[in-house]
Amino acid sequence: MDIPKENFSEWYNTLIKEAELCDLRYNLKGFVVIMPNAADVISRMYRLYEDALEARGHRKSYFPALISEKNLEAEKDHVEGFAPEVFWVTRAGKNELEEKMILRPTSETAMYPMYSLWINGKCDLPLKVYQSCQVWRYETKATRPLIRGREFYWIEAHNVFDSEEGVLSQVQEDMETTEEMIHQSFGVPFLFFRRPQWDKFAGAVDTYAADTMMPDGKTLQLPSTHNLGTNFAKVFNVKYMDDDGEEKPCWQTCYGPCISRIFAAIVSIHGDSRGMVLPFHLANVQAVVIPILRKEGSETVIRFVQEVTEKLAKNYRVVADFSENTPGFKYNHWELNGAAVRVEIGARDIESGKAVVVRRDTGEKESVPFEELPKKIGEIGKEMNASLREKADEWFATMLKEADTMEELKSALENGEGFVRIPFCTDSLEGEGCAEKLKEECSANVRGSRHDANEKPSGKKCIVCGKEASTYQYAARQY
Ligand SMILES: [Zn+2]
Repeated sequence: MDIPKENFSEWYNTLIKEAELCDLRYNLKGFVVIMPNAADVISRMYRLYEDALEARGHRKSYFPALISEKNLEAEKDHVEGFAPEVFWVTRAGKNELEEKMILRPTSETAMYPMYSLWINGKCDLPLKVYQSCQVWRYETKATRPLIRGREFYWIEAHNVFDSEEGVLSQVQEDMETTEEMIHQSFGVPFLFFRRPQWDKFAGAVDTYAADTMMPDGKTLQLPSTHNLGTNFAKVFNVKYMDDDGEEKPCWQTCYGPCISRIFAAIVSIHGDSRGMVLPFHLANVQAVVIPILRKEGSETVIRFVQEVTEKLAKNYRVVADFSENTPGFKYNHWELNGAAVRVEIGARDIESGKAVVVRRDTGEKESVPFEELPKKIGEIGKEMNASLREKADEWFATMLKEADTMEELKSALENGEGFVRIPFCTDSLEGEGCAEKLKEECSANVRGSRHDANEKPSGKKCIVCGKEASTYQYAARQY
């Protein structure tokens, strides 16, 4: 590696290749192969996320990847929003299909017709179902592995309630799940926004999203959650019999953490010029044991390292590197791959009864008695997780800025970095004109108002049109 992270784009591309996270040589544009070094971490993330959803009453399902054209077209706003990026299946074998199908870009139109069969009375509600799957969108902008492509790996949770209160409390719950997973577990800071009306999910009443910031100061959307109101329920006949004997449309939400993209954020935010740094519980290798071999006594060292490795393997994912490479080469290799802790053992260490232990994120070294190794590695893991999160939080805080005028906004974004809080006329559709102008002048997007903080401007003017400001919005350059 050795590419400074200030040069983020080059750093990221080099990491993807050298740490063998993705192979970009797959011969379809916008599609990459996710290799074992990334896929193993992504699987762990999936498990943790699924557990968090199931702890909150969600149940898993598997829906077909193909959706009929008829289903897609049922909800007018939805089809308008998604049609441009849908992959079509129109032939099978030698035959043109009578009914065209799409590859799911998201599963509202696959799931809700089934929900209408599943839900009859109040006793069927709330219904909280998710699936972990791939989705496909014909992305026309420049693609970047794991950050933006034509295929991604996500979870989509689709929930149904008998009231608007159910929906609003689900949005709150999704925000808590996001905090627990993205921030507490993965150490990735974010702001939780309510998107302006012109930027909401196609067919939704409201869209909320957690936006993080990449090291180059551009924002990246992580999970979003949508208040679908009764829009889809009316179209797909998702109804329940109320106590008064009347059939009523259900209220719905959907929540979509994109696991492959969250992985990209983790790698980008925690990594350094030596390569990948991962939270301890996600690392493929939690401890790598490196034998320091001299000409004499190497057999003793090898045997000893094998024993230590076996003991550690009871509690951790451990590898002993017996390859022919020099210790220096091995250090670099395992740092690049994000091994959390390195344990060095040579003849002299065996004599003194202690191993040299090196922590990946800080490079701190210490001598640890062999019998204390298992405990010590666990402690380092905990410290590392806390410290990665704190470091990311500190950096993220420096990315939050404020501006009251266009001049201030421009100078805040001069280096193209950060979220800038601005007074804005409105987040209703009428505000889109001001957002367009802002984009033209600063190449920044209006991302929304903070849903996790109550902020109201008083006596301020819209940064674009000068009318009285009714909302604080956040502007940022985006992926
Ligand atoms: Zn305005």
